[in-house]
Amino acid sequence: MECLRVKLYTPTGIFKNPLSIKGIEVYPLPPYSTVIGLIYRAMGRKWNGEYFGISVQGDYQAIYRDYVWFRGDSLGDKEDKLPLQVPILYSLELLVHVKAENGLLEYIERALKEPKELLFLSGGEYPVKVQEVKRVKCLEKFLSEENCIKLNYNAYIQRELLENIGTSDKGILFSISYFYKNSQKPKTYSWVDAYYFQKGTEIYGSLILDEDNNPVFLAEPVVEESKRAEEEYVRFYAGNWLMASACVGALKVLENAQEDIKKYVEERSLTLPKELWQRLPELYAEYLLKDAEHTLRASYEKEKDKSKFNPYNVIILRSLGDFYENSPFTNPALRYITKLKGVSIEDINQVKNQVKSSFIEGYEYFLSKAVETSQTCFFCHERQAKNFVDATNFTPLFASIEKRRNLFWDLMPICKECEFLLYFASAGFYRSAGKYLFVYIPDDLLETYRMNMVLSTKEEIEQEKLGKVWSVVKYVLDLEKQKSSWVLQNIYFVEIEMVGDATANIYSFHISPNLAKAIRKFIDHYPKNLEDIFSEFLFYIYIGRSLYEFLFLLLSGFIRKESYKNLKDTTIDARIIRAGRNMRYISPNLLFFINFQEVLNMNEQKNYINWAFGAGRALKKLYNENERTQKKLEPLTYRLLEALRRKDKEYFIHNLIRAYLEVEKEIPYLFKEALDEKNFSPIAYAFLIGLNSEEKNKTEEANDEGGTSEST
Ligand SMILES: [Zn+2]
Repeated sequence: MECLRVKLYTPTGIFKNPLSIKGIEVYPLPPYSTVIGLIYRAMGRKWNGEYFGISVQGDYQAIYRDYVWFRGDSLGDKEDKLPLQVPILYSLELLVHVKAENGLLEYIERALKEPKELLFLSGGEYPVKVQEVKRVKCLEKFLSEENCIKLNYNAYIQRELLENIGTSDKGILFSISYFYKNSQKPKTYSWVDAYYFQKGTEIYGSLILDEDNNPVFLAEPVVEESKRAEEEYVRFYAGNWLMASACVGALKVLENAQEDIKKYVEERSLTLPKELWQRLPELYAEYLLKDAEHTLRASYEKEKDKSKFNPYNVIILRSLGDFYENSPFTNPALRYITKLKGVSIEDINQVKNQVKSSFIEGYEYFLSKAVETSQTCFFCHERQAKNFVDATNFTPLFASIEKRRNLFWDLMPICKECEFLLYFASAGFYRSAGKYLFVYIPDDLLETYRMNMVLSTKEEIEQEKLGKVWSVVKYVLDLEKQKSSWVLQNIYFVEIEMVGDATANIYSFHISPNLAKAIRKFIDHYPKNLEDIFSEFLFYIYIGRSLYEFLFLLLSGFIRKESYKNLKDTTIDARIIRAGRNMRYISPNLLFFINFQEVLNMNEQKNYINWAFGAGRALKKLYNENERTQKKLEPLTYRLLEALRRKDKEYFIHNLIRAYLEVEKEIPYLFKEALDEKNFSPIAYAFLIGLNSEEKNKTEEANDEGGTSEST
């Protein structure tokens, strides 16, 4: 057999899907559709229904994460730019094989040798360089396990091919867009399941090898699944974080109904027997109502005007309102919701039944709302779409897409089954104080479920909650041993912060190798007296903001207590300042932030940090020896803080020299050595902390605040 072999090179590549917001869910290699698109651009014509076999392999030098600025078409919104953090594959080389009937193959060959357009891979900033276009002879060979070969490139291998190919590693399952299903607008893709294998993986079995011994993994169109299976089961695909959170929510509901959930999950898919699927609205209502008695009674007590009391809103709206604004389940103006207004709660079981039957009426109303479309559902790639996703389906995300539609993608078609399942996402997220958190492992639904269960075990006291997030982080770090590095880097924490009725901030947080290291080394030493602002600390890590800025606010709050007397703590930064105001004294546990940041910066000059802290403390002692200099300590602190605010190294050193002169000392030699660009922040902050710290005895400190800087 003959194939066309194509080698492509691009300095950067970003491969995402429509839900890749905030860098969640990207592909380690371009999807088939991206490469196919490039081939058609080279040919200068549109796809016309033809298929060919395609194999995609590749290698990159590094992944780095960077903010890409998208311009929004703001509708009175203050921001007209939206930063998306995306992982970028750096220096990417692709090895593509194409197998087609000879006429088409010749056409493709000519086109790639002399493209009609400049070629790009989606998201890349630079044109793609075509390094080789060559006809190669390919042979089918059978290799026994002893004679296995190693992959020279990372590769996609279509699921069907793996029936005859053995591998040393499990691989990571991706659902990958392939050829168009129809070429008219709106275009929809067909999708294939393929596993991603990292280079170095051993493979054997029935292989196709080209003349240079490169394996070739041709993906072919998949025959549609049989109708029979479709009739007996409803299948969902947790192919993105949103659908995964919905599947996790549904699993929680099923577990609550005493179902053995393991038998419904395989890799990333959730397959429910039709009969169970039909009971799901009822089971969901029962799940939401399970501990309702206390809540109902308490809010009935609180309600002054009993005729306004509506148990539906207390139970259902409260659980679903943030995520599904104005949906059939949450729009408080709907008849089956308003009719419960003013019911007496004497018979609690009767009230619960009323709420349940209203919920089921809501489901029937939901089913009746369908739109005519010829498209396939974006989420399952299987069933016919009956609607397009809008803000009612998942308000935090889609309300922002509505606003910035041109930023993202075209309308997303959705089938009724997937649409209903999205209503379970709110059960999938863990909720606490206006925030929602979800942990997502891209290739493993059951594991994702387990991890989120760690989070959502309820009724924990506030302080333990923080411990819980971190126990999940630790759990994630443990997975490092079992999972490939690609998966580890793509385990995400998705956090949604409601900031208005239909507005939310969505943050995502993943554990980069540096962050993993910083957490392992230092997280146990997070100052206990600052637990109130632990989530603010997380926020800084999430968005990659420097902890020196965090520390600056904290120290400003402490040092300038008076000027922040009336500060309202409505923003993250204001809460940090307030926490600074509330500190009774400064102790070395603040060095935690410096140590943590320096690991993130890959700069571990720990001895400088402790030395600078000691120097600050020693200077304070000297100042406190007589009254004249004692008074000057505060102005000195202000000036040094101002120097930090301005990031003015000269001004900082100038004040430092004056300060030492004041006590007739020479500035320690190490300052001159250490105050270079890289070390300015750690040393300056450590010095200022030392200068303002108070010496307590060890036990007092430990009891008071926990956490010390003496860790390694
Ligand atoms: Zn669907």
